Amino acid sequence: MAAIEVVLLGTGSPIPDPDRAGPSTLVRAGGRTFLVDCGRGVLMRAAAAGAPPAALTATLLTHLHSDHITDLDDVITTRWVTSFAPSPLPLVGPPGTAAVVDGLRASLEPDISYRLAHHEDLTWEPPVEVTEVTGGIVLEDEVVRVLAEPTDHRPVQPTVGYRVEHGGHAVVLAGDTVPCEGLDRLCQGADVLVITVVRDDLIHRFGVPRLVDVCDYHSTVEQAADTAARAGVSTLVLTHCVPAVAPGGEDEWQAIAAARFDGEIVVAADLDVVTAG
Ligand SMILES: [Zn+2]
Ligand SMILES: [Zn+2]
Repeated sequence: MAAIEVVLLGTGSPIPDPDRAGPSTLVRAGGRTFLVDCGRGVLMRAAAAGAPPAALTATLLTHLHSDHITDLDDVITTRWVTSFAPSPLPLVGPPGTAAVVDGLRASLEPDISYRLAHHEDLTWEPPVEVTEVTGGIVLEDEVVRVLAEPTDHRPVQPTVGYRVEHGGHAVVLAGDTVPCEGLDRLCQGADVLVITVVRDDLIHRFGVPRLVDVCDYHSTVEQAADTAARAGVSTLVLTHCVPAVAPGGEDEWQAIAAARFDGEIVVAADLDVVTAG
């Protein structure tokens, strides 16, 4: 069994796509299961990956853009109603996460009251343990360490990327970011880098201003490949591709990255699995 397993649960972007769930990635390492971001349809894909919300070790948010947290309420509620004892959900995210959770909790108040009134054995409200981070060690036990570093997705800030380490191996979940020092530190010597990318050549061809704005704060495929090469990463995983990769168009995206990075390149589809170690 691999030291670390990464399942690309959702490889979409904010644009609804019949074949791609919203941004979300599952990481299994040393018997721990981490959910990174909670995009549209995350629990459907997590079910396909055999990862029910009650079994999550922690949920990690890279930032609070809607496409990355659309289904956070589903993760909170479904974990609550499928746990048979209070099981607080450790939720790690950038500053602002606690306020978002407070808002979600307020919107869920009717549902919480219905279920508490109906189920005699359900006597607790959905417990969420929020930890806000901008960097450093987020989580550490005898087998797994999770690190965070600030990323650069301005004007969205603060934002963070994560590195999950186990058994001498490491995977990085960059989220949405342009190249930056924090990302370079996270990636140094990692086995796998999962990063969201855009094709600025295609986006500028469409010429839609709101889409052109997307180029400001995401890595291009070229920049993602340069980041991976600079850090000595083994496998580069391109996800959250904007515009969405046309069926059969993966080779073109891969070739752009391969011109600057000679490791393995994965243009991710939902439920693709990538391993380290
Ligand atoms: Zn974003
Ligand atoms: Zn995004």
